[in-house]
Amino acid sequence: MNELELVKRIGRWARPGAKRARELIEGIGDDAAVWRPRAGEDLVFTTDLFVEGVHFRRRGLTAEEAGRRAMGRSLSDLAAMGARPGFCLVSLGLARWADQEWVGGFFRGLIGMADRFGCALAGGDLSEARVVVCDVMACGAVKKGMALRRDGARVGDVIYVSGALGGWRRRGEIEPRIALGRKLVGKATAAMDLSDGLALDLYRLCAASGVEARLDRAPPLLEGATIEEALHAGEDYELVYTAPAGVRVPGHRVGEIVKGKAGRVTLMGRPLERHGYEHFESRGDSGSD
Ligand SMILES: [Mg+2]
Repeated sequence: MNELELVKRIGRWARPGAKRARELIEGIGDDAAVWRPRAGEDLVFTTDLFVEGVHFRRRGLTAEEAGRRAMGRSLSDLAAMGARPGFCLVSLGLARWADQEWVGGFFRGLIGMADRFGCALAGGDLSEARVVVCDVMACGAVKKGMALRRDGARVGDVIYVSGALGGWRRRGEIEPRIALGRKLVGKATAAMDLSDGLALDLYRLCAASGVEARLDRAPPLLEGATIEEALHAGEDYELVYTAPAGVRVPGHRVGEIVKGKAGRVTLMGRPLERHGYEHFESRGDSGSD
């Protein structure tokens, strides 16, 4: 199959979702996508690389799982900002081993995940490459000025996580917390998604907000997971967020924001080391499987 045929085929798979996206004026088939935002909304953009040997192994995931994972990572970033997904652009570098069947499975997984969250595949690019490399640029929308950010946590806020944690070894598929993120708009003071582990990500949130976090209990754990994994393994793609004590939000309360050293996080009185999943340092080629 040549590139033109492949693009045509991807366009056919993507069409149902694109048709439902009212703001998409022009998608796959033209030189570039045209998106007309609704009045009173801000657009939110994210891009996420998914690289063979870094984020996944060839035999560690099926093609469909790899597609869902590549898409889920970007959708999780939109969730963290409280955004409604709109469209995505997907660029894929294909290694020799990735045959037609794999590419088909990959796009089925990716488009299926995008469709579930109302995200239209609006275009992208294809190339040969030495390993499989996928970049998913996703765009969402949020009410003007209301995007959830990392820097809004205030002393006295309660800290929540959206679900059980345990890291990439324990977790099956990514379930982007889009619905929850949208519910938190106007309620949460700060939010982010947990890509690198609670210890490191909460440090980032606290550093951005200039506050300290006091965790007074362990986060809920995935079956078989250790606290160590929940804190440091990464790739849970749940949300961590803060809200004033009087504001009711869904989720699991794990602690509170206190006055102290910006970025410091303690768990039951013990300072947490902020190591987590950091690229180029820890895992090398042992990506998620
Ligand atoms: Mg993120």
